[in-house]
Amino acid sequence: MMKVKLYNTLTRQKEPFQTLLPNKVKMYVCGPTVYNYIHIGNARVFVFFDVVRRYLEYLGMEVTYVQNFTDVDDRLIQQSQKENRPVAEIAEDYIEKYFEDMDALGVKRATVHPRATEHIQGMIDAVQTLIDKDLAYEVNGDVYFRSLHKEDYGKLSHHSLEELKAGARIEVNDRKEHPLDFALWKAAKPGEVSWETPWGPGRPGWHIECSVMAKEYLGDTLDIHAGGVDLCFPHHENEIAQSESMNDKAFANYWLHNEFINMNNEKMSKSLGNVMTVNELRKLFSPLALRYFLLAASYRHPINFTDEVIKQAENSIARIQTAIENLNHRKQNAQHGSLDPELASKLEKLTEAFQNEMNDDFNSANAVTVLFDAIKLANEWVQKPIVSKESITALWEWLELHGGTVLGLIQPKEQQVLAEEVEALIKERQEARRSKNFVRADEIRNELQARGIILEDTPQGVRWRQG
Ligand code: AMP
Ligand code: ZN
Repeated sequence: MMKVKLYNTLTRQKEPFQTLLPNKVKMYVCGPTVYNYIHIGNARVFVFFDVVRRYLEYLGMEVTYVQNFTDVDDRLIQQSQKENRPVAEIAEDYIEKYFEDMDALGVKRATVHPRATEHIQGMIDAVQTLIDKDLAYEVNGDVYFRSLHKEDYGKLSHHSLEELKAGARIEVNDRKEHPLDFALWKAAKPGEVSWETPWGPGRPGWHIECSVMAKEYLGDTLDIHAGGVDLCFPHHENEIAQSESMNDKAFANYWLHNEFINMNNEKMSKSLGNVMTVNELRKLFSPLALRYFLLAASYRHPINFTDEVIKQAENSIARIQTAIENLNHRKQNAQHGSLDPELASKLEKLTEAFQNEMNDDFNSANAVTVLFDAIKLANEWVQKPIVSKESITALWEWLELHGGTVLGLIQPKEQQVLAEEVEALIKERQEARRSKNFVRADEIRNELQARGIILEDTPQGVRWRQG
């Protein structure tokens, strides 16, 4: 029944997707470290896996989607020292900003968004279990995992232990028994945020967070575990080592990794300083165009970020929007009749094509192409002199379902109405200004402000967004 195939990093093959429980999907995606705004590279993960989730739901699956927040780590501690503010305050701020960005990009909330700091006891217990199993050891308040004791360590990143040993030799850390061992727990330096443990005060290592939160909400074995390709090693490899050693069960059946967004062919990353944050980009481009940009390439291909491609994405979004508007308009005027059988069969074929593309490792790029085939069809039908309301409705429903519900590239109806109202007011305000009726212009600005609409003057004209 289930025809989805997905590329599993673990086996390096496309495999038929088989869930552990019938019709239920347990999915965990590593979330952001909340010490700063997220950039468009991070957004690729969250937008793409939002579409994976939406598509599985479209197929009738019940998806439990867990996405964590890493709200304590080295970068947060550094940021807290820099800003002279508690880690928790910084994390809280950027979680809020994260949701603002994601709401704008049409990313649905996960079923749960657990925060690392809310699961500290679970992490302490997990570390203790690994110590008790002799798979971890404590040194001056740090606790390390004995990677070499997990015979299949390296299986996700497809490195043999020999290769890993050779690669790890350069790293020097006197405390570790072996350079490949990794930290489960880190002793606190003076003044750092910390929690009490049997090994003294400290904080969790990054990998143990995900192992513990995944188990808490999804159980020992997940269907899908995902993130950007840089997480494959060491983060996901280490999650596997910890979880499988703790639970004596496979940790996740399918591992999915998206490729990077690059800037001048180099990974976009905060440490390289070549990032475009979603927050900045939202001021320059429409959020739907950003979403389109992220989905118009298959997730396993890198994308090079340029303004030019986003401008093209703006055009594509405008074409989708116009088609929907025309259908809406025609729907109101068309007479009742019946759904044209030829149209019905074309729509069925489009559904099949759309599903074939998405079933093939969630190929959103090709699914978008099918969406444009449907738009072309819609544009033909709205121009017909005689067309039934039912035919127009069928086209509209097809687009709303595939382009809207699954891909999230069509604004929900309420937002469309809002957009029309706001744009009419902006136009009126510009006219008022031109005719020097500043009282009216200010009135409109205040009205928009009261509705949470922020106006910005850009070279492309006045843009607006919801604050
Ligand atoms: P971080 O907050 O750094 O842990 O990253 C959050 C997510 O974004 C992870 O899944 C990363 O793999 C992913 N990521 C980071 N940089 C990029 C990039 N340039 N392109 C695509 N994904 C990225
Ligand atoms: Zn993780």
